Amino acid sequence: MTFHTPPLARSTVDRAAHLRSDTTWLAAARADPRSRVILVRDGSVATSGAGGGAVDPWAEPVDEVRLAVLDPVAAGLGADDGCLFLGLDAGELPWFARRLPPAVDTPLTGVASDRLVHLPVPAAAEVDGLRWTSLRSIGAVLDAHDAGLAAAAVALDHWHTRHPRCPRCGAATQVTAGGWTRVCVQDSSEHYPRTDPAVIMTVTDRAGRLLLGRAVAWPERRFSTLAGFVEAGESLEGAVRREVAEETGVLVGDVTYAGSQPWPFPNSLMVGFHARALSTELTPDGSELAEARWFSHDELAAQVAGGAVVPPGRTSIARALLEDWFDGPLPVPGR
Ligand SMILES: [Zn+2]
Repeated sequence: MTFHTPPLARSTVDRAAHLRSDTTWLAAARADPRSRVILVRDGSVATSGAGGGAVDPWAEPVDEVRLAVLDPVAAGLGADDGCLFLGLDAGELPWFARRLPPAVDTPLTGVASDRLVHLPVPAAAEVDGLRWTSLRSIGAVLDAHDAGLAAAAVALDHWHTRHPRCPRCGAATQVTAGGWTRVCVQDSSEHYPRTDPAVIMTVTDRAGRLLLGRAVAWPERRFSTLAGFVEAGESLEGAVRREVAEETGVLVGDVTYAGSQPWPFPNSLMVGFHARALSTELTPDGSELAEARWFSHDELAAQVAGGAVVPPGRTSIARALLEDWFDGPLPVPGR
């Protein structure tokens, strides 16, 4: 099986970490009109073009979505906590993200969109064409550059929102290093963005059938690969075997690494595996999984084409793993 790199793992951005602590350079870059700024808020990014606006994480991504790109003045980029340094592009231009507070519902119209840089001139109907769009729904249609920027911006934004205080003493913390560190004002301890690993896996039996499950919280007909968080003190392989056994009762033997992708919803790293089942009897736990089923290649093709099974969205690593096993793109329903 060949692993096809999932959308959010394709970043081409140079993170230029050596520049994060260079306060003189950062200040100059924040003020440089050539610098580029994207906007992030609560898991969503500002996008331009007709295709944006999807906030349903299950929605199939639409074509022609691009990140909205502003200059520092239009984006209101200051030296405050809302400024995140994301790195340099291929032309060495600095890229930033401007965080906007989740509580404030700021319509992106008027002044900011009038001052866009390197966007095509919008048609009259799209002058107010910036939208907040869930990264989860559009990750698959962003190019590698935009996907890398957006994944970092959304992950950092979540971290700042959820970690305003020092975990050691409870005092306030200050943002440093271009948004990549918070320092306690009381005890000077440094705190870094968290990334929580989760495992996600195809499980196949001796006949080559694939195990998919439907989570309790999901709508009818939606099936995906099994997944779960890695527990404290646990190996990745151990987590794969434990999750599959807990959720379906299936015992797993060999576990092979396939690939990974950031999943900043809010702060996971999805680590993908292909696992071989040693047993086939299914006893879904009922608390996490409502249903578990084995699918042959032909069964899955027919059921996806007929709409009886709705596969995971194209942004997810689950889709990449599933299409690995399928050995190509899944059929499009109704065709
Ligand atoms: Zn502290």
